[in-house]
Amino acid sequence: MRIFKNGRVFTSARDDDTLHDALVVDGDQVAFVGPNHEAERIAGSQAEVVDLRGRVVLPGVLDGHIHTLQFGSFLTRFVCLGKTAAEVQDLVRQRKREQPDAKFLLGASFLYDTLGVSPTKEILDQAEPDTPVFIDSADLHSCWVNSAALKVLGITKDTPDPSGGEIERDANGDATGFLKENAFHTIVWPYLSENTTKDERKAALKLSFEAFVSTGVTGGVDMAMMEDSLEALEEIYDEDGRLPIRINAHWFINSLGTQEDHAKQVRRAAEHRDRLKDKAKWLNVIGIKTISDGVVDSCTAYMKDPYPDGSKPGPIWPKDDLTKVFILADSLGLQIACHALGDAASEQALDAFEATYEANGPKNRRHRMEHLESITSDSIKRLTKHGIVASLQPLHADPVYMANWRKMLGYDERTDRAFPWKEFQEAGSLISFGTDAPVAPHHPFPNLYTATTRRSGVNPKLPDPTDPRLIAMEKFSFPLAVSIRHYTAGTAYSTYQEDVYGSLEKGKSADFAIVNVDPFRDGVNTLREAQAGVDETWIGGERVWQRK
Ligand SMILES: [Zn+2]
Repeated sequence: MRIFKNGRVFTSARDDDTLHDALVVDGDQVAFVGPNHEAERIAGSQAEVVDLRGRVVLPGVLDGHIHTLQFGSFLTRFVCLGKTAAEVQDLVRQRKREQPDAKFLLGASFLYDTLGVSPTKEILDQAEPDTPVFIDSADLHSCWVNSAALKVLGITKDTPDPSGGEIERDANGDATGFLKENAFHTIVWPYLSENTTKDERKAALKLSFEAFVSTGVTGGVDMAMMEDSLEALEEIYDEDGRLPIRINAHWFINSLGTQEDHAKQVRRAAEHRDRLKDKAKWLNVIGIKTISDGVVDSCTAYMKDPYPDGSKPGPIWPKDDLTKVFILADSLGLQIACHALGDAASEQALDAFEATYEANGPKNRRHRMEHLESITSDSIKRLTKHGIVASLQPLHADPVYMANWRKMLGYDERTDRAFPWKEFQEAGSLISFGTDAPVAPHHPFPNLYTATTRRSGVNPKLPDPTDPRLIAMEKFSFPLAVSIRHYTAGTAYSTYQEDVYGSLEKGKSADFAIVNVDPFRDGVNTLREAQAGVDETWIGGERVWQRK
């Protein structure tokens, strides 16, 4: 037994807003949470004593939406967030000097609005004509490449656009070096995957685990699992008999191909789930993931009304195909996660869910929808009625990203109802919080800061807004305790693990973080700095990370 006393323990248990003195851990489980004297009696005189010295203890953060392998790879890339085109060129040249023999040069997180110009191959060719350069956009929905990259990808004038994607072209029909949606996901991802060794993948995964545990994250829901990352994850599991954090995965279903191709992928997800039964505590495939639309930032989110530039993109999945995939996954007991960012995408997904319930009849199910950035009040009601988990990433509403988001939609009524979180709360929706790392930074505390304020945790130096319409966004924010629950117990619920972990209650796994900020007492401003906060992270009663 171990007793952690003289602290302020937040449990995430339903209706429990008390900050308790003490936590007693017996083996890998929580034995008691409550007053010091009671904890001492239960722990007994032989227990190891940890004096928390007034520090806060939170349940381990469960990030409801991550891309584990891509996040690890991201940690090795040069980062273009907030950079101009000239600054990106400097980063490319610097990386080439550092890694003269690299197979390719990988960058991350360029933002459309800070580049100052359209991303074209010529800009990158000036910096690096020979080695292929791939730079992901911050939202991971498009990729900017140089001519050498187009060459190794085999993209020529004659290459057709994949369905649901676009190889952007100039007036002569030549590729510009900007690959959107499926042109990125079905051409660039497989190329990079084939040219990355398993050992490189394992190294990247380990980097991501280290980053997660150092910020109090004890588990994550991987939102686009594929063969290459599952293979590397399993090998890490087999070497250590566990993973560093708990991974529940949704198997990525590619929209290309025939309905029979889709069905094959869905069945593959069920095969993995069945095969992983004994490893499920640490690594499981619990469902599928479909991507129904793009993102507002590149005008690819599927919206009911056109964008101000007149564009009106359709969905990535035809409704009939999507519905067939849902019905099959649901019948196999797989959980469905559907990326539905625009208001038309969420309507399409809800139609597909309703057709699925109709086809398969009543059963215990727990599906979810991802992002829901622009969504009608009616869709929020439908989602809530069906018990579909709203998977929200508060960080995506950070003012750093919102500037371009609002511009793309033309500052209309849709931008005034951007990320309308409060409406989910008022409707009584089930909610899981995540970050979508590496789409947004993985740090939980700035995510909580934006969730509770709608202000910037990504750039803590950003001045608070003065635009009244931006200030009005605060009405959509969540209270602190509610936010922490969505980020712990809410995500556990979304993976059917709410009886195992996600809150600090007797009999649940002792997964928690000891933190050196006290947002309950000192306010949520204490959460704004990314690396501030976590002193220790514990999983299953074992300390897995400690601040040096
Ligand atoms: Zn994602």
